[in-house]
Amino acid sequence: MRKSNPIRMCISCRTRESRQELIRLQKDHSNLIRYSGTGRSFYLCTRCLEGQHISKIIAGREKLDVKSVEELIKELIDNVKN
Ligand SMILES: [Zn+2]
Repeated sequence: MRKSNPIRMCISCRTRESRQELIRLQKDHSNLIRYSGTGRSFYLCTRCLEGQHISKIIAGREKLDVKSVEELIKELIDNVKN
């Protein structure tokens, strides 16, 4: 049997990719956090992660605190590069 390869969509550019290629995020009240395992989540591709206005886009869409989004995005970019 073939293993399924779930396809998910980046919330910013709407590119569809396999789940492993995307970063899974979640809202925690007005903060952005990495997916904790439960609750509503969404995906972001690595290209959008490094996009210039991504923090504002996500904060606006999801009604989040821009500062918290910026901090998490920075951390995620560092993780992706290392
Ligand atoms: Zn994207």
